[in-house]
Amino acid sequence: MTDAQRAAPVTPDVLTVPRKLPESDKINLVGLTRDGLRAALINAGTPEKQVRMRLGQIWQWIYHWGVRDFASMTNLGKDYRSFLADRFEITLPDVVNRQVSADGTRKYLVRIAGGHEVETVYIPEENRGTLCVSSQVGCTLTCSFCHTGTQKLVRNLTAGEIVGQIMLVRDDLGEWPEPGAPKDETRLVSNVVLMGMGEPLYNFENVRDAMKIAMDGEGLTLSRRRITLSTSGVVPEIARAAEEIGCLLAVSFHATSDEVRDRLVPINKKWNIETLLGALRSYPKLSNSERITFEYVMLKGVNDSDEDARRLVKLIQGIPAKINLIPFNEWPGAPYERSSWARIESFAEIIFQAGYASPIRKPRGEDIMAACGQLKSATERARKSRAEIAEETGVRNAPGSI
Ligand code: SF4
Repeated sequence: MTDAQRAAPVTPDVLTVPRKLPESDKINLVGLTRDGLRAALINAGTPEKQVRMRLGQIWQWIYHWGVRDFASMTNLGKDYRSFLADRFEITLPDVVNRQVSADGTRKYLVRIAGGHEVETVYIPEENRGTLCVSSQVGCTLTCSFCHTGTQKLVRNLTAGEIVGQIMLVRDDLGEWPEPGAPKDETRLVSNVVLMGMGEPLYNFENVRDAMKIAMDGEGLTLSRRRITLSTSGVVPEIARAAEEIGCLLAVSFHATSDEVRDRLVPINKKWNIETLLGALRSYPKLSNSERITFEYVMLKGVNDSDEDARRLVKLIQGIPAKINLIPFNEWPGAPYERSSWARIESFAEIIFQAGYASPIRKPRGEDIMAACGQLKSATERARKSRAEIAEETGVRNAPGSI
């Protein structure tokens, strides 16, 4: 495949991307499930007897080869390619800012239709590369330790905008395969976690469709065991996630009593710890997953005592589980502080002695503020202050003013 056939590389240059994306009346094929794509092709006039073959061909071009223009789909007839180009498009969200941390973490500020922005973070490790994707612009929930929780929900992402985050990072990493090149089993994006902005179970259908596309064996081919959906505890949707998505589940647990969890994760007032644990007990059986990850952010003097650790072990008894301890990533104005390392280690030891894996998450990308929601806010602040300066000085049309 020539360079021209491949997607244009992602640009980190803020100024090259227009503030408002041009509207298009063409249907974007990215994010349509196989059934959706089939229906779109038939509605546009593809003969029914051809549609199965066409669908397979187009699907592979988009999701296996990363091609973005119909002219490059060389196993389709010329006329059919221009027929497609007249009706459809293959577009991804724009990257408006990309930061690369000294530790290799890459943080993308991504602009979606309507000019809204979300974050995507790529975290390379020794034997895996994890991509943290967003599912909503802002969030309806107000977890008090979470920076995204300070940003109001604007809208749900479409399936195309969710799977598009995986695709644009593959662009940036140059990860699409080359025809004829020896098969490279090393995956740069090997794991996906739905832990970015938003509560994925409050955008269920779009998250499900995006993950079905990511898991499809003729495209991105991510195994369901390499996708983790993280929920704050939307109990009624947990069983549905097991049945309709079947990926691994993580839960933002963070506290061992309702009194503390009500404060940290207010959705607890609706579905408390006991109700949540009831739903979690059935998840691994329903989804055929191995275990549930309990996310536990370590907040000094709030939830980090030895007593908390012992209570946690008791609560999760009988659930195949791993506990991820997350040293709090402080953000400006945050109402909490990170627990000391000695405290975190003591907490981890109690859990480990009880027979559970209790890895302490290594803080990543601190130099680029990689904690959820921080880049978006910092960019907004920067814009605002530039606008304010322009207002103050009366220089409205200076280069870079917005
Ligand atoms: S932790 Fe998740 S659910 Fe809670 S406010 Fe942040 S993004 Fe929303």
